[in-house]
Amino acid sequence: VVAVTSEEDHASVTLSDGTRLSANLVIAADGFRSSLRERLLPDVTLRYAGYVAWRGLVDERDLSKATWDALFEKFAFCLPAHEQILGYPVAGPGNSTRAGERRYNFVWYRATSEHGALPNLLTDATGKLHANGIAPHLIRADVLADMEEAALTLLAPQFGEVVTKAPVPLFQPIYDLEVPRMVFGRIALLGDAAFVARPHCGMGVTKAAGDAMALVTALGRHDSIHAALADFDAARTQTGAAIVQHARHLGAYMQAQLKDETDREMAERYRTPEAVMRETAVPARF
Ligand SMILES: Cc1cc2nc3c(=O)[nH]c(=O)nc-3n(C[C@H](O)[C@H](O)[C@H](O)COP(=O)(O)OP(=O)(O)OC[C@H]3O[C@@H](n4cnc5c(N)ncnc54)[C@H](O)[C@@H]3O)c2cc1C
Repeated sequence: VVAVTSEEDHASVTLSDGTRLSANLVIAADGFRSSLRERLLPDVTLRYAGYVAWRGLVDERDLSKATWDALFEKFAFCLPAHEQILGYPVAGPGNSTRAGERRYNFVWYRATSEHGALPNLLTDATGKLHANGIAPHLIRADVLADMEEAALTLLAPQFGEVVTKAPVPLFQPIYDLEVPRMVFGRIALLGDAAFVARPHCGMGVTKAAGDAMALVTALGRHDSIHAALADFDAARTQTGAAIVQHARHLGAYMQAQLKDETDREMAERYRTPEAVMRETAVPARF
């Protein structure tokens, strides 16, 4: 797709081979780097939050008995100074949830400066910078070794084991993204193409599905596509903004880690284990 335009009575999509397609409605659900959003809203950009999430999965049978007993069946948190890691059991290969076949998933938030540390993490062994995200197999061995050493030094030993046993760790720079509206004539933005919330509230998939369901409902409720899209836009722009704001609030502590001592201390004051556990990935009304 090289161009999308919206007219009063139809929308047009132009493909790179010159083909032009006509549609009643074009839905841009092309993810957080949506090229259609970039064309419609060139001033709206991804804003780096100042930290990355290291992630990984470990087969439950690879965990020591002591770590399995302490962690496996729990949504567990570990909050050493300046760090936050959490973990929970997930399905294993083949989506199996049978005992012995599941995996433990961790998400470890680490403050990482935008102009120094982050480009270093995103640079592969040949010196190439993968500014839009680096594939797990291209993360340099020294970057992985540093991360594992930090895990063993800074985290509770059970989490140190989980992190260092993950066969394919990866990291994801954390971004905020917000659009002022989701509808442009007969073009609708949906899911991460419109709003990207930090992972703390665990809403990415739910939000995208909620957008899709709201669009279906609005189209069923109105004869006019424009009226349906206006309904959708009003409801979901507000919801998306509320989710992004909630997630930003939950991540403010991590963001403060790169600031001065005063900001860090203020952020620490609001970072009690109780608050983190009360608000992370819990059902919320938006
Ligand atoms: C590492 C990681 C872990 C995550 N974990 C969770 C989690 O545990 N729970 C949760 O709720 N959310 C999670 N998320 C967020 C979640 O993945 C997203 O919020 C969700 O996938 C958004 O859905 P979407 O359909 O809007 O976009 P996407 O799932 O990104 O889908 C966009 C699709 O568009 C395609 N596309 C893009 N450009 C083009 C183009 N030009 N032409 C054709 N196709 C194109 C892409 O290939 C992709 O298939 C995670 C994200 C990451 C990166």
